[in-house]
Amino acid sequence: MAIEVKHINKRFGNFVALDNVSLDFPAGQLTALLGPSGCGKTTLLRIIAGLEQPDLGQVILDGEDASARHVRERQVGFVFQHYALFKHMTVFENIAFGLRVKPRRERPSEQEIRKKVLRLLELVQLDWLADRYPPQLSGGQRQRIALARALAVEPRVLLLDEPFGALDAKVRKELRRWLRRLHDELHVTSIFVTHDQEEALEVADQVVLMNKGKVEQIGAPAEVYNHPASPFVYGFLGNVNLFHGRLHEGVLDAGGVALDAPDHAAIRDAQGVGFVRPHELEVERFSPEAEGIAVRLKRAHAIGPLAQLELERNDNLGMIEAVISSDRFASLQLQEGDALVVRPKRLRVFVDQPLNEEAV
Ligand code: ATP
Repeated sequence: MAIEVKHINKRFGNFVALDNVSLDFPAGQLTALLGPSGCGKTTLLRIIAGLEQPDLGQVILDGEDASARHVRERQVGFVFQHYALFKHMTVFENIAFGLRVKPRRERPSEQEIRKKVLRLLELVQLDWLADRYPPQLSGGQRQRIALARALAVEPRVLLLDEPFGALDAKVRKELRRWLRRLHDELHVTSIFVTHDQEEALEVADQVVLMNKGKVEQIGAPAEVYNHPASPFVYGFLGNVNLFHGRLHEGVLDAGGVALDAPDHAAIRDAQGVGFVRPHELEVERFSPEAEGIAVRLKRAHAIGPLAQLELERNDNLGMIEAVISSDRFASLQLQEGDALVVRPKRLRVFVDQPLNEEAV
């Protein structure tokens, strides 16, 4: 089922939680709602579910305005961060619950319920846990059971609010890959709330970046990562080095160092900020001919295939983080205090404000 939200506004008192949000969630896709704490992700999810009413705007399910439809009529399944499974019921009974409470006319027979629950247990690969009680499960197992329980009633939409948020990093990683495989099998339109950029980029077909109640960017993971639409998106999707300076006909003057900014050749004079990710920097030993930003190595961590370098600019304009391969690190034979030069392999510049009237 395709989901569309149109011009959604929501306030809590004077606080604007959602500010004119319009979005499409294509049928059968897994969309991640990504953004910092408090940006409105959960509120948007609750509005789609019908658990919360917007002040303005519409929720459209498969082309029909569902704003007036009760949560039960929207056919959504939920999984929350702390999903309270019924402690006094076995795993089997927890999954069967949604089927047993259906109105008599729609309720499946006992035999059908049994078949369905066992199939779901197989799907989430936990059939051997059917007779256990929730306190006897690990956190990861509990969330997989919560998902099986949400799927039991065959929802047309699956809403997941930080479903793996309470789990440790390793289990989280395993479960998000598992969720992706499960989604590939079921193709239920799903919306997944997370504040973890790596999780969103790895799992989703489509990523929605939110900030302060607004949508900053929508796109496929590679699209938002490689072509961030705003400084916020750039900063949120990974570590970044910033170079503030004056932008003049395709060159950013960042404290006496000229950095190429060919996308901005038409700008005569403006204030700009250059963004570069740590792995997008070339690093070499200092020599008078080497072009780039002169730095000194403060600290290096070389574990596994990559070496992370903390570099201090010689002009005292701050620190730079670079990531190079461990092979390159070894061949440079670096020691703390060494003089180096760094150069962006690619630089993305956002224009701050023009410095004179003629500037574009
Ligand atoms: P998190 O990642 O921390 O869960 P979020 O992006 O999901 O954050 P929301 O839970 O949607 O954010 O909340 C958005 C803002 O609205 C927050 O500042 C929150 O305090 C506020 N808010 C949410 N629900 C209510 C409520 N019922 N009453 C008052 N304020 C609320």
